[in-house]
Amino acid sequence: MSLALSDRQLRRWYLDFNRRFHGGDLPDDVDVIYAPATGCLGRIDFDYADAATITINPACAFDMCMVKLTLHHEMAHLKVGTKHKHGKVFQAEMLRLATLGAFRGLW
Ligand SMILES: [Zn+2]
Repeated sequence: MSLALSDRQLRRWYLDFNRRFHGGDLPDDVDVIYAPATGCLGRIDFDYADAATITINPACAFDMCMVKLTLHHEMAHLKVGTKHKHGKVFQAEMLRLATLGAFRGLW
């Protein structure tokens, strides 16, 4: 992890979403960067020490709502574990976020 690489606005949103919608349960030391992500809006990767990097495709940065939705999506992966992909556990987490109002004004 190298927070110097993180986009400052993306990091601010990450920390804000973590506090407001995850009770601060997600790790603070997550890089959040803009970088091309082939064929998807975002992705999450883990280094040798299991520290996460969330990548947001700059192609969706024409609309900050898309960026925030993508960040929520990747944070949901971080929350439930990537082995669940987009299955039931992931869907339940997205519904939980929706119920809390995470997507209000975004979808
Ligand atoms: Zn996904």
